[in-house]
Amino acid sequence: VRLLFERALLPAGVVRDVALEVGADGFISAVTAGVRGDGAPVIRGLALPGMPNLHSHAFQRAMAGLAEVAGRGERSFWGWRAVMYRLVERLAPEDVAAIAAFLYVELLEAGYTSVGEFHYLHHDIGGQPYPDPAAMALAVRRAAGEVGLRQTLLPTLYQQGNFGGAPLEGAQRRFQHDTGRFLDYVQALRARDSQLARTGVAFHSLRAVPPAALAEVTAAVRAADPVCPLHVHIAEQQREVADCVAWSGRRPVEYLLESGVVDAGWCLVHATHVSAAELAAIAAVGAVVGLCPTTEGNLGDGRFALDELLAAGGRFGIGSDSHVSVDPREELRSAEYTLRLWRERRAVALTPGATHTGAALYAAAVAGGGQALGHAHHGLASGGPADVVLIDTDRAEFCGVPDAALVDAYVFAPRPAAIDRVWVGGHEVVAGGRHRARGLVEERYRASIARLAPATAEGS
Ligand SMILES: [Zn+2]
Repeated sequence: VRLLFERALLPAGVVRDVALEVGADGFISAVTAGVRGDGAPVIRGLALPGMPNLHSHAFQRAMAGLAEVAGRGERSFWGWRAVMYRLVERLAPEDVAAIAAFLYVELLEAGYTSVGEFHYLHHDIGGQPYPDPAAMALAVRRAAGEVGLRQTLLPTLYQQGNFGGAPLEGAQRRFQHDTGRFLDYVQALRARDSQLARTGVAFHSLRAVPPAALAEVTAAVRAADPVCPLHVHIAEQQREVADCVAWSGRRPVEYLLESGVVDAGWCLVHATHVSAAELAAIAAVGAVVGLCPTTEGNLGDGRFALDELLAAGGRFGIGSDSHVSVDPREELRSAEYTLRLWRERRAVALTPGATHTGAALYAAAVAGGGQALGHAHHGLASGGPADVVLIDTDRAEFCGVPDAALVDAYVFAPRPAAIDRVWVGGHEVVAGGRHRARGLVEERYRASIARLAPATAEGS
């Protein structure tokens, strides 16, 4: 396939008349700028590399917006988690598949073209493995396949209720694996990988995984695949940091880095509470920080010093996590606006040498997100995935915006209908702003939510 764009965001910036050659494998085999008059139809607008969404818990889409009621339970992350567990107690694989497919359609329409699915809901409602232990994981993989979203499935190890080996309770029994079974489960998923569906591994958190299991799984995974993505929720809450210090004498990031396992294949999700030394150390090993600004804001997690990470040469990507927002631009704006309010100035989260805030944030999140999801290359470049989002720059809102400011305008000045078409692996999945399968996927989502109503209405 050959796609000829009026404009495209290349590593050098916005360039005119760009041809992308897409191989049968769904990757870009060549990029040529300045292509004119060769007879091929020109696709008007601006082609952006699709945004990787490096952190998702798809099922949580069903409770987005339903934990905003004060006065009942603890007004904190832990109170939100209680609402989430009530939903978890009711979900069957067909519900998870229906919710995930609907979410993934929303992600694609919003310009995300790949997702890291941090998947810890493994077992049946009683906490027993399904006849096929991978039934839940395969349900979320199937959902991505049906709607054409590139997915890195991150089966997640969860073994204890807190630091030091507290037992699992209630809904958490659906999450548990012993180490041997977990490795078998990962192996079974890897055996079914395909071009758009690959398998990584996640550790839920240091509070949920004891050190011996983390070391054993990391060693086994690295022996099988030196570049397999490894993700962990690391330092989301002050209480979690305090518990880690009480248990080990180390802060979570400090503890993990001292264990010596972290390399550039790692993604540290919610590295919210970190010291300057920890930030510099994350940057030095080349790991990606997984930022989920709208969820972190929604949960009252804390502020992340993205400017300090970037100044240290660190990398980041974005995730929609609990899916209170499914718009990558809102994640980028939220990360930057938190810093503007904090530092009391503008254009704060700039990569060294960059001048355009929106374009720099967008490009950095594409690169970091791609790295975290295990893509060998990123962006609209040879070897990169043919994952493209087309912005309709003929809309009146873009009138008078010069090429060099288009990505800034796209990120910072909300234009909800700006996305016209989306391709993943060279296949067009969104046209005219609408996913091709939206009707069917919506119908199944409505039916599933109707079945789950008592749990999702809990926040009313
Ligand atoms: Zn998460």
